[in-house]
Amino acid sequence: MPEMRDRVEFAVPPGQIVVHRATCPRGCPLMAKDHPIHGHPSIRVRVRHEGRTGLLYLDPVYGSHDNESELEVPANAIAELSCPSCGTSLRHPEMTCALCAAPMFLLHLPGGGFVEACLRNRCFQHRLHVVTGEQVMQQMFDRIGMDSFL
Ligand SMILES: [Zn+2]
Ligand SMILES: [Zn+2]
Repeated sequence: MPEMRDRVEFAVPPGQIVVHRATCPRGCPLMAKDHPIHGHPSIRVRVRHEGRTGLLYLDPVYGSHDNESELEVPANAIAELSCPSCGTSLRHPEMTCALCAAPMFLLHLPGGGFVEACLRNRCFQHRLHVVTGEQVMQQMFDRIGMDSFL
């Protein structure tokens, strides 16, 4: 995990960025090409709640929340998420949600960036963190286009 000072946080307009290469903390790819949402591969994780498990497909469009779950999790319940390949928990050991104080989970991105999001069902607090570095910045700008900023 990069130091705080090496990170920059972007306020990205909803719907402008699609997560393409999320992984678990151990590096397993999580993208589900066979389960697209909004025409893009979704992010496949395992969800557990009160002893039941299922697959959860996260909307890859940043700021959009059209997730699809095999498991019915009640609104406002806190679920556990893990990697479907290696079983590693995606829960961050320390981070808590600024809105509801629930634990947060992380999706790792190429180049050391990550998406953090609240584990409480229907709490939509989440943030995209991108590690500073010219290459990563350039990729961001290439993908979003400068128009979104002007
Ligand atoms: Zn894994
Ligand atoms: Zn929350």
